[in-house]
Amino acid sequence: MDSNVILSIRNLQAFYTGPDNPALGGVSISVNRKEIVALIGPNGAGKSTVLKAIFKEAKVNKGEILFEEADITRLPAGSLAELGIGFIPEGRRLFGSLTVEENLDMGGFIFKDKEKLRSNKERVFELFPFLFENRHKLAKELSGGEQQMVAFGRALMLKPKLLLMDEPSLGLAPQMTDRVFDMIKTIVGTFGVSVLLVEQNVKKAMEIAHRVYVLNLGRVAFEGTPKALLETGDLRGTYLG
Ligand code: ATP
Repeated sequence: MDSNVILSIRNLQAFYTGPDNPALGGVSISVNRKEIVALIGPNGAGKSTVLKAIFKEAKVNKGEILFEEADITRLPAGSLAELGIGFIPEGRRLFGSLTVEENLDMGGFIFKDKEKLRSNKERVFELFPFLFENRHKLAKELSGGEQQMVAFGRALMLKPKLLLMDEPSLGLAPQMTDRVFDMIKTIVGTFGVSVLLVEQNVKKAMEIAHRVYVLNLGRVAFEGTPKALLETGDLRGTYLG
């Protein structure tokens, strides 16, 4: 495999209730190093299921998932973080009654090397000074966009090589949405991570993505650059419902 490829999903079939009711019907997706790849498509297309299959929240019955050429298809979710895969779930799933700093610490709790953890936290605080300035605030006191910043920071505590993001702009005001997309670009620029991004906000996703996959009915309906997708002229009609 091309060593520039960090994640390679091949012919993935996944389900929730039973294998006769697949949510993904054979999906192949790859992400290169330092690349932002967006997964877009109508509701129910299977976008989140791709991420959930990697993190074992959906069951895989066929196909394989390779991370840095190693087969992780059957690895438990807990081992993925140690390999360098971070997952930022939809709705952020922060601990509202804990402080910003405590939420960051939760992101690094599996790390045994406390010195490394401290230096990672410093890097997160350098990247997002807001988090440092508000480290003693409770997460629930923050706005949606600020909470998303905490969720990014928490995922960065383990210094991931690949970040999976499920609808980071969901429920945010337009101005906050812009900030969240700027944060994603900053994270990629500073930490050199790769990003696989599921996003309903197609316009914003296309602005930052290097490549786009359109999913429809559990299958890949288009794969290419945002520019190529726009040139099909069929973004709304065929691909996005
Ligand atoms: P959305 O933006 O609406 O979340 P999506 O493209 O992310 O769309 P998925 O959430 O991946 O779509 O859903 C794909 C299919 O799997 C849908 O038919 C959905 O109803 C089903 N599904 C998703 N989550 C579950 C679940 N926890 N249990 C059972 N079926 C599910």
